[in-house]
Amino acid sequence: MIILSTIAELRKAVVNAKSSKQSIGLVPTMGYLHEGHLTLAKNAREENDVVVMSIFVNPTQFGPNEDFESYPRDLERDTKLAASVGVDYIFAPSVEEMYPHDGGIYIRAGRQAQTLCGASRPSHFDGVLQVVAKLFNLVQPDRAYFGQKDAQQVAIIQTMVRDYNFPVELRVVPVVREGDGLAKSSRNVYLSSIERMQAPVIQQALQIAKLELMDSGDVDQALAQATKIIEDNTAGKIDYLSILTYPDLKEVDENSDQILLAAAVYIGKTRLIDNLILSLKGERIHA
Ligand code: AMP
Repeated sequence: MIILSTIAELRKAVVNAKSSKQSIGLVPTMGYLHEGHLTLAKNAREENDVVVMSIFVNPTQFGPNEDFESYPRDLERDTKLAASVGVDYIFAPSVEEMYPHDGGIYIRAGRQAQTLCGASRPSHFDGVLQVVAKLFNLVQPDRAYFGQKDAQQVAIIQTMVRDYNFPVELRVVPVVREGDGLAKSSRNVYLSSIERMQAPVIQQALQIAKLELMDSGDVDQALAQATKIIEDNTAGKIDYLSILTYPDLKEVDENSDQILLAAAVYIGKTRLIDNLILSLKGERIHA
């Protein structure tokens, strides 16, 4: 496995792969790898000749009072883990390498970014699209791998690919969880032992909401039950708990098919997100 830190090196590797007609799979990450990231990489390994994993804590997707500075980083550890699943290249640029110019051109996420995480993190998805568009242009992947853990991110990137004609196939990988149901996340290391015990309640609450929704079709009732579970079993503060259509992220109605149940909860100072997607074709839903 080769570690690349400059765009010039990356371009060389991409030109080499393209000239020998090798397919390229891209796995964008912010590092501090866990089984979720590695599952994306394993899928990429199976489906492509060359696998590029980017490891870049992207400052433009963090708000002013968020955890950009303290976000966990360990390139040495990441390198070993990525090599163990057959990644060919890690692209780990500096911030200056990725953003040498100030005040340039920005991409703005549309309506799908106004709800859920976008409501509490106003420019987050603009930053995500900026870095993902750059990575698509640099790596020119045949396929790019993203986790359903960040369901809104997937939906917004799908829209960018559609609207800006990026010639890439998006591959979406189901949420990888700990044994107790907590979605794996680099941010789980922030949790104290008591918070870690409470954190799986987010997934349990979403499961209860799903059962209620399938049972009664009542969105408000499903949300009320999930809210109660979180409030009764954690010291957490709910940022949002929502049921929307997927991937449009609109209010559900009786014609809704794919439905997203999504939550963001502060467990202590750590903001954790999780979701479930269900297909309700033919079921009666009312809001
Ligand atoms: P991050 O490093 O958090 O930006 O995540 C990089 C990619 O890994 C994103 O596409 C995430 O959705 C995906 N990812 C993160 N955690 C998980 C998980 N628990 N299961 C599946 N994919 C994940």
